[in-house]
Amino acid sequence: AKARGRNGYRFYQPSMTGEGVERLRLETYLRRAIEKQEVFLNFQPQVEIDTGKLLGVEALVRWNHPELGLVPPVRFIPLAEDTGFIDQLGQWVLYEACRQMVRWDEAGLNVPKMAVNLSARQFERGSMVTRVADILRETGLAPNRLQLEVTESVIMNTGDALAFINDLHAVGVSLAIDDFGTGYSSLAYLKQMPVQTLKIDRSFIKDISTDANDEAIAIAIIQLGRSMNLSVIAEGVETEQQAAFLLRHGCNQAQGFYYSRPVMPDDLLQRWLP
Ligand code: C2E
Ligand code: CA
Ligand code: CA
Ligand code: CA
Repeated sequence: AKARGRNGYRFYQPSMTGEGVERLRLETYLRRAIEKQEVFLNFQPQVEIDTGKLLGVEALVRWNHPELGLVPPVRFIPLAEDTGFIDQLGQWVLYEACRQMVRWDEAGLNVPKMAVNLSARQFERGSMVTRVADILRETGLAPNRLQLEVTESVIMNTGDALAFINDLHAVGVSLAIDDFGTGYSSLAYLKQMPVQTLKIDRSFIKDISTDANDEAIAIAIIQLGRSMNLSVIAEGVETEQQAAFLLRHGCNQAQGFYYSRPVMPDDLLQRWLP
């Protein structure tokens, strides 16, 4: 079944032939997705709540297969991780994201920061820091404009996470902890790391104003960030009320549909070019 979406894309829907077959088919297609230029990036603005200023963007990978349609990342990222294809894909994403920053610069749009997601497998690779440094050199992007996002659980489950993060820090790249609050991070451990940003997971933002527990968690993360001198950004902000709540409790950075969906590079240019 294929449904046609807003922007003319068909959206991938798994067929009923069984998960195994489906997986194998996806896997085969995915392996060739980069060379066939089916993969591209969308960028979602990160905004300063009180001024509406553009603080940065997060790169989000998209895969549009000619037959399957648009396959969502939640379906192909785990597959790419399992098959090892994530190494190639991750490299491609990093390079393209950095290149895009330079293109926007050249077009007169200053996007202060580019955030790129790292999967567990990429994070665990010994050569990752060198590769990041190489890409920065090749594209000419200043290291302090790149932020890498990893989840808490990835950090907690990686043996030498501290060494890795220290090395990244030495290169000049900043680090954000993604989906914060959903994992089990030891705060004592976190405190040792040169991490700059906590991203409050969307699940806590969603029911703000109806769920007192979620509100309490969001507030606790904001306060934690402040006391550890970290910047805090909320993801999945969809309403003005959520934004107002965050601002009221001392969080001035947000990302979410209320501000913008993930968009193509030219759309970003059109909306934000001064
Ligand atoms: P994430 O890193 O937590 O990314 C945020 C996800 O939330 C994105 O979904 C984004 O489109 C969605 N989102 C943003 N604002 C809102 C909102 O206001 N409401 C709702 N309901 N959703 C919102 P997307 O693009 O489907 O990506 C899903 C996940 O796939 C990402 O979660 C990330 O874990 C992974 N991913 C995406 N691109 C990459 C990539 O290049 N590399 C790796 N390793 N993972 C990626
Ligand atoms: Ca992310
Ligand atoms: Ca996230
Ligand atoms: Ca999330």
